[in-house]
Amino acid sequence: MTVRTVPEPVPGLSADQQAFREDVRSLLASTEVTEELAELAARPPGEEPVLLETYRALGREGRLAPSWPVEYGGLGLGAVESAIVTEEMALAGVPDDVHVLGVDIVGMFLLAEGTPEQKRAHLPALAAGERVATVLFTEPGCGSDLSGLATRAEPDGDGWRLYGSKVYNMKSQYGEIALCAARTSDGPVAMHGITLFLLPLRSPGVHVEPVPSMADECFGLVAIDGVRLGPQDVVGRVDDGWRLMNELLQLERTGIDFHGKARRLLDLVVERAARAGRLDDPVFAVRLAELDARLGAAHALAWEMVHNLDREAPDPVASAMSKWYASEQFRPILDAGLEVDGVDSLLSRWDGEARSTSRYEADYRMAPAHRLASGTSEVMLYLIATNGLGML
Ligand SMILES: Cc1cc2nc3c(=O)[nH]c(=O)nc-3n(C[C@H](O)[C@H](O)[C@H](O)COP(=O)(O)OP(=O)(O)OC[C@H]3O[C@@H](n4cnc5c(N)ncnc54)[C@H](O)[C@@H]3O)c2cc1C
Repeated sequence: MTVRTVPEPVPGLSADQQAFREDVRSLLASTEVTEELAELAARPPGEEPVLLETYRALGREGRLAPSWPVEYGGLGLGAVESAIVTEEMALAGVPDDVHVLGVDIVGMFLLAEGTPEQKRAHLPALAAGERVATVLFTEPGCGSDLSGLATRAEPDGDGWRLYGSKVYNMKSQYGEIALCAARTSDGPVAMHGITLFLLPLRSPGVHVEPVPSMADECFGLVAIDGVRLGPQDVVGRVDDGWRLMNELLQLERTGIDFHGKARRLLDLVVERAARAGRLDDPVFAVRLAELDARLGAAHALAWEMVHNLDREAPDPVASAMSKWYASEQFRPILDAGLEVDGVDSLLSRWDGEARSTSRYEADYRMAPAHRLASGTSEVMLYLIATNGLGML
């Protein structure tokens, strides 16, 4: 078995799109980027990555948000080029939270629903990799079902004052703005009456507390206490947040990022197995071949979702399948890796007894999060069962 370092070929890419991939890949292989990634990997736990030179390097020529219009810092390209950037970043091991939150989510909402002023104020800085924008949807009492959210926007003159708590958000301690969902009105239907706001995070009414997680990066617990927002801070229409969250969040759910990270991990396991002579064991080699085949399927499924987006024909049920399938592959890959080096591979590189400087142990701690972030595995199955198979 050969160690694969590049993704499976994607059918249907034009010559220009192939050239774009080569261009992004060579930038991510440049000394500037590889040195930064090596420096990040050597940092002690708790020192998490935020704005990277790597983002700025991609952003300088519009490659961080290639599908955005040129006037907002993009290249005016499409969903395929965006997916290429996401995939290449995952394969190169670039930490992607800031990109996912700022470009794929907040930027996408602003592009779709923002006012011209909101777009001008935020999109160019996000596309340049110069600003951290975060997402404040989940609350202590609700995550998967956001219809139960309790953060309130109380009327105040021509605007509102926000009160509430948000949890499990990433990077809020470093962010400048957040896309925040709050309840603007009550009614018999819980989904109605939710509005999306752009919340300035560095304001006196916002308190951000880091919350340790199993992985190296912290979550944020954000207390919002009377921050005043005006009509200019609303994203989309008042009381229309539920529809926007449902329509737009699924566009981000192609499975491309999860597949890329899983592929990188499997490559690492195969490489270590080869070094340890485990590929001579036919039973173990077949197990790795099966994992390789599963990632081939995840890759094909994820790219089908990208092509759907490119045709402006997203398929929410198939997207749920793709996210579920790709994110479920981490556990069996990590279990196979554990068998190669045994429990030694689970020692932190900072443990005095550790023989390896790899970040395998950090990947192991991160694995459960893939089943939760961007919609949990159970919720993906629920969507497939109800919306796809008509059960219930
Ligand atoms: C790494 C990571 C990053 C995150 N980043 C952010 C962020 O930046 N901003 C943000 O707002 N949130 C973020 N989240 C939060 C994430 O969106 C929520 O954790 C997720 O939506 C689940 O919500 P919950 O934790 O409240 O669990 P719950 O919704 O309470 O679910 C608890 C359990 O019940 C299951 N469940 C729920 N509903 C159903 C159903 N209908 N059928 C079957 N089972 C069900 C779930 O699968 C889960 O196992 C992040 C989470 C992770 C892990």
